[in-house]
Amino acid sequence: VKIAKRTGKVEIYRNGVLKEAQRRFSIESRLRDALAQGGLTLAFQPLIHLQTGEITGFEALARWNDEELGDVSPVEFIAVAEESGLITPLGRWAAYEAAQALSRWDAKFGQALPVGVNVNLSPIQMARDDVASMFEEALRYAGIAGNRLTAELTESAIIADPDKARKLLVALKGLQMPIAMDDFGTGFSNLASLHSLPIDILKIDRSFVSTMLEDHDKAVIVRTILSLAESLNLKVTAEGIETQALALALQQMGCWQGQGYHFARPMGENDAFDYWRARWNFETI
Ligand code: C2E
Ligand code: MG
Ligand code: MG
Ligand code: MG
Repeated sequence: VKIAKRTGKVEIYRNGVLKEAQRRFSIESRLRDALAQGGLTLAFQPLIHLQTGEITGFEALARWNDEELGDVSPVEFIAVAEESGLITPLGRWAAYEAAQALSRWDAKFGQALPVGVNVNLSPIQMARDDVASMFEEALRYAGIAGNRLTAELTESAIIADPDKARKLLVALKGLQMPIAMDDFGTGFSNLASLHSLPIDILKIDRSFVSTMLEDHDKAVIVRTILSLAESLNLKVTAEGIETQALALALQQMGCWQGQGYHFARPMGENDAFDYWRARWNFETI
């Protein structure tokens, strides 16, 4: 009986591993087609100036609805893209699409909107691709000023290859692009590199923000990041603001910018434009 049970477990384990491998394989092959056929879209989530309530920009987030697989979370398909090399074309597509969305919004409005778009960069993409030239071309192709595209990167990209990261960040600053450290607090940040690299913004990870009103330790971390940022002359964005109480608390703590479901969920390009146009000159948090 014992042996049978054990074998049973092994079978279940094997089936689990097999299913996982099959899903990974089908995501990879269908993602490759989706990229080639324009099957991905960007969703735009508003970024709110916590002191004035103004919309300062949007974060561009990749979305994929596949005929067979349905909605696949970016957490899952970005990981597959990183493992398979598809992150390079995906990252290029995201940068071009974000720049073009800005230029389409400008055209609709009749002048440049006073907002920018944040584009996420994967550490693997940064290692493999010439991200600076890619942005330069995307900006030129869309006819958009560099200060309207913010690069969001994570601490792991800097740790992986500090020299390469420095060269890239300097090149992005040469294009006038702001640079944000995403998911800040979750990695092993090197405080010296924060100081010496041309970083403009720290985005405090949602895991600290969303529970900071109930969890004292999280609040301490948020305060520490805010005072660190002040000393280093960096701006701070808080992710994962799901309630007005959180928005007000962060406003009182002097946090610059906020993002979260309390303000708005990520939305399609046209809805994002309408959201901005309806609120751009009178907003309160
Ligand atoms: P991220 O860059 O940290 O993006 C923020 C994530 O938090 C998004 O998840 C967003 O929908 C979610 N979020 C925003 N406000 C709230 C809130 O109030 N509550 C909760 N629970 N969640 C909130 P999403 O869209 O699922 O994206 C997940 C991750 O996938 C992103 O995390 C980013 O790391 C990656 N990703 C998405 N698009 C791209 C892309 O184009 N390129 C790369 N390299 N990565 C991307
Ligand atoms: Mg991000
Ligand atoms: Mg983030
Ligand atoms: Mg995050």
